[in-house]
Amino acid sequence: MATADLIVIGAGPGGYRAAEYAARQGLKVVVFEGADVGGTCLNVGCIPTKTYVHSTSFAEARQRMPQVVAQLRQGVEQVLCHPNITLVRARAAFVDAHTVCPVVGGTSCPVVGGISADTYTAPAIIIATGSETKWLPIEGAKTDPRVVDSTGLLRLDTLPRRLCIIGAGVIGMEFASVFHRFGSEVTVIEYLKECLPALDSDIAKRLRKLLEKRGITFRMKTAVQSTADIDADIILMATGRKPRTDGLNLAAAGITLAPDGSIPVDDNYQIVNYKSVNSKLYAIGDCNGRQMLAHAAEMQAIRAVNQIVNRPRYALSSSKKSVNSKSPDGIRFDIMPAAIFTEPEAACVGPTEDQLKAQAIPYVCRKAFWRANGKALAMGATEGMLKLFATPDDGLILGCHAYGAHAADIVQEVSVLMCRHTTLSELADMVHIHPTLSEILRTAAVAAG
Ligand SMILES: Cc1cc2nc3c(=O)[nH]c(=O)nc-3n(C[C@H](O)[C@H](O)[C@H](O)COP(=O)(O)OP(=O)(O)OC[C@H]3O[C@@H](n4cnc5c(N)ncnc54)[C@H](O)[C@@H]3O)c2cc1C
Repeated sequence: MATADLIVIGAGPGGYRAAEYAARQGLKVVVFEGADVGGTCLNVGCIPTKTYVHSTSFAEARQRMPQVVAQLRQGVEQVLCHPNITLVRARAAFVDAHTVCPVVGGTSCPVVGGISADTYTAPAIIIATGSETKWLPIEGAKTDPRVVDSTGLLRLDTLPRRLCIIGAGVIGMEFASVFHRFGSEVTVIEYLKECLPALDSDIAKRLRKLLEKRGITFRMKTAVQSTADIDADIILMATGRKPRTDGLNLAAAGITLAPDGSIPVDDNYQIVNYKSVNSKLYAIGDCNGRQMLAHAAEMQAIRAVNQIVNRPRYALSSSKKSVNSKSPDGIRFDIMPAAIFTEPEAACVGPTEDQLKAQAIPYVCRKAFWRANGKALAMGATEGMLKLFATPDDGLILGCHAYGAHAADIVQEVSVLMCRHTTLSELADMVHIHPTLSEILRTAAVAAG
């Protein structure tokens, strides 16, 4: 059995970032990965889907996607070549709260006849095993050969003539938008009354109506009972994702899952409710079920490693301003921007207007429209609206929800401003390049309430 300073299970955005950052701090790190490095995001998530979005046809997407993925995967392999990192290409399971071994032939160790050379012990272990498709108990979901999840859809070599998507969340909406553009006849079936529940309902409705006008059929407030009732060549199950913890033998480490199947963690991503006192166990990324986003996983990795090496500040920043009372290391997990890469994009940071109302938080809302922006007109991208929320007294920016060309980049600017406690009048005083889409934001800041 070998020793390390840190064991990381999973080499997705959470795991490989944790390993890289810890190795740079001088820790001896062992990473276990049971599949290709890069995780869901690189291999079957963010990157393949965005390659589809930025391809002109299905044929081009099929051709480009493996190249883009392979190139980025090579970059991650390179990162993991750091002299302080040992990569074990195997699934991992716990032996106890300090020890992890490779899973051999479907069974976890101790390997019969002795301990595997790849069994490691360390004072700190980070679980970063990601998530998997949540399959609803719909009749036919597991037996109808037409049903696929997002990974299955990305494997198709032939464009489906009729594609039905169950679920109008982020994954469902992105695939609806891109497959419609490729030429599929797309129907989206959603149980709720509106798509994209994390997005401001006003923005979500406008985006849905736009996609409807372009030819996508939406059947809202509809519960699918059986896939036999669906007239389509391919049915995409896009009803969410759940933490992946199977085969980890968590019980051996004394870890108990939360009722929703996630690994319960505190604000430093240290696992709560486990019995061992002498080991530090963390769970980052999708497996803790907090914010299922690649950039969240990466930043959680930094926070967890900062705790392990007892580093109070975010190492990449020297600014005193980055340390604030809400965060020990300057990372603001309460300011988590997110985007939906439909065409046009949608993006958000902070609460929706409905949430502000429900929590009785006083606010003002400033709006701006793509159709009034010079660059948007020049681009022929006039569909879009932005809502900027701020406190009524001092104008402190609370959040922003938008849809329109490059909405993600605009919302990213709001996110930065929020991290710096910016007010509407300060934003109004900031010079923005003309003509750019970012001027939409400044327009909102100066708009009458
Ligand atoms: C279709 C799709 C599109 C997406 N688009 C976006 C997007 O545009 N932007 C965005 O921010 N997010 C997007 N996401 C979400 C994003 O992919 C995840 O939030 C992100 O990958 C989570 O990173 P992670 O490190 O927690 O887990 P993962 O990326 O899932 O990596 C976990 C790794 O752990 C490995 N593993 C699991 N169990 C074991 C074990 N026992 N032993 C060893 N290894 C193990 C897995 O093989 C995997 O490589 C998308 C997801 C999907 C499905």
